Amino acid sequence: MIDDETLARLAADLEYGELPPESFEAAEVLGVTGPARTIFAWSDAIRSELRDRILTGELGMPLSSATLIGVGIYRSLGFDEPESSLSPVGGFRLGVIVLGPDGVRLRSAQGSGDRRLLPDEVSDVPDDLADRGPNGVRIAVGGVAFPVTTVAGYTDLHASASGRLAAYALTADGVAAVTAGHVVDGLEPGRAVTGLSCHGFPTRLLRRAPGFVDAALVSTSCGCRTVTPTGVRRVGQGERVTVRLDDDLVLDATVMMSLEPTAELLSAAIPLHFLLSAHGAAGDSGAGVATAAGALCGIYLGRTKTADRTGATYWYGYAADLTQAAQMLDVPTASMGDIRG
Ligand SMILES: [Zn+2]
Repeated sequence: MIDDETLARLAADLEYGELPPESFEAAEVLGVTGPARTIFAWSDAIRSELRDRILTGELGMPLSSATLIGVGIYRSLGFDEPESSLSPVGGFRLGVIVLGPDGVRLRSAQGSGDRRLLPDEVSDVPDDLADRGPNGVRIAVGGVAFPVTTVAGYTDLHASASGRLAAYALTADGVAAVTAGHVVDGLEPGRAVTGLSCHGFPTRLLRRAPGFVDAALVSTSCGCRTVTPTGVRRVGQGERVTVRLDDDLVLDATVMMSLEPTAELLSAAIPLHFLLSAHGAAGDSGAGVATAAGALCGIYLGRTKTADRTGATYWYGYAADLTQAAQMLDVPTASMGDIRG
């Protein structure tokens, strides 16, 4: 979790720039207040400008080999990056990271194919780094220049022999529950989902979200028959959330960035993800992510590791947007909620 003081300083630094009032609309509609409101609005504005620059071919850096783009707060050593109007605050900064194979030469890639692992430790900074020039470009929004930095990225999905449930929904056939799509990999609808239980009772796959949206709906033979609607909504950068790993085990985290395939900036049919300041472990896939007020906002999927050119690596929690998942699973969000009291 990013502490309150760091978040407030990140937001305060943005106050000398100016955004049109409509930039704050989404945060206002969702009831986001305080520093998170500022960071959410600026992140939306950066994303919008980034989209325009990509569309017009004016970004100034190639994206052909990029896989994902993150917008919002990221962890940074504060060098090896294009200059920004803002200084890093406590090792965090606001901007854009482009996750692609160009970001770093892997020193000790292990495994095979795309299941490679990045080194865990922070290495010495190469002597000639400064000679190579900035690793990215700047993007100006509201009078503030933000860095667009390329990093290497790797995502580790957290299904193992088990998974978790993110949200419940009352359907015509009783209580159904949402989990991560990769928890039901290889299963046909109607089959039991081994390792995924509802209060100790078995679950069966109803359907999986189409395309690349990593979500699935399961039925349960559990006795739970009532769902307390909690509200389901999009979450913004800077917001504090909890990842509900178990009935009495939660992980406090801050939403860092939206994370989308580059094509998402042009299409709504591609999955929306976000990165968190903390991550769980194998077996936690499918766990719910909730806002401070208890609205459900995400499905925990795993962790994402990034490495910059200095060799510095950072882990983030990786989650899918629940609003989009519910739409793709054809479950009305008004019927979704919690049964944990
Ligand atoms: Zn149950």
